[in-house]
Amino acid sequence: RVLLEVKDLMAVIVESGQEILRGVNLTIYEGEVHAIMGKNGSGKSTFSKVLVGHPDYEVTGGSVIFKGENLLDMEPEDRSHAGLFMSFQTPVEIPGVSNFDFLNMAYNARRKKEGLPELPPLEFYSYLSPKAAAVNMDLRFLDRNVNEGFSGGERKRNEILQLAILEADLAILDEIDSGLDVDALQDVAKAVNGLLTPYNSVLMITHYQRLLDIINPSHVHIMEEGSIVKTGDLSLAKQLEKEGYRAFSVS
Ligand code: ADP
Ligand code: MG
Ligand code: MG
Repeated sequence: RVLLEVKDLMAVIVESGQEILRGVNLTIYEGEVHAIMGKNGSGKSTFSKVLVGHPDYEVTGGSVIFKGENLLDMEPEDRSHAGLFMSFQTPVEIPGVSNFDFLNMAYNARRKKEGLPELPPLEFYSYLSPKAAAVNMDLRFLDRNVNEGFSGGERKRNEILQLAILEADLAILDEIDSGLDVDALQDVAKAVNGLLTPYNSVLMITHYQRLLDIINPSHVHIMEEGSIVKTGDLSLAKQLEKEGYRAFSVS
């Protein structure tokens, strides 16, 4: 089944009116892992932020269907409840709210939307523990305030933990490899692999082969100047690493 269908998506920056996305086309089926690569400034992050409904951008053309629904008509919160997840969603720091409470609230908000009863803290703890173990997350992190004093690696493990808890259908991971040491990268990437089922999908954005070596994408796309100019499989990423983006440049 088709999970996401993006057609001729165009978007501008609200503040300046500058056009960033110039007709993006992308179709993702359940169970697929897609990677978007591309030079700095080609529009990769803008694309992912437009999908989750970031207010800095305005869609000026095209369509996005997610699980059969018009995604662009939905509020950002509803997109998340519908099963779309993006890394770096956590507010930078939330004073006075423990990570455990934050995760429990996020999970319960999702359950409520599905008409399920809230999971009380003790039961949520049982649900959470194995997932925290899977990302090598120390349980003591759960008592800390959300993201307060987390290192880059801890923050990213925490994001993958959120993803595991919310059981999203489509996870957009924008440069989860940036700023991670080799061990943290392995943990995070393996945790993402552990979440893959035949029914959910990942769209990851990365500059680097090292992440793709662990999370094997079924499709690799190259974005340039706000559109996808080439699509292939893992061999495209390998070719890119050897020859650089210039070999694929359309300009
Ligand atoms: P990438 O993730 O591929 O490096 P981005 O999507 O972050 O690229 O950015 C694409 C272009 O749009 C860049 O030139 C960037 O400076 C610009 N841009 C993106 N978002 C904003 C914004 N909110 N305000 C101003 N310029 C932006
Ligand atoms: Mg960038
Ligand atoms: Mg970016």
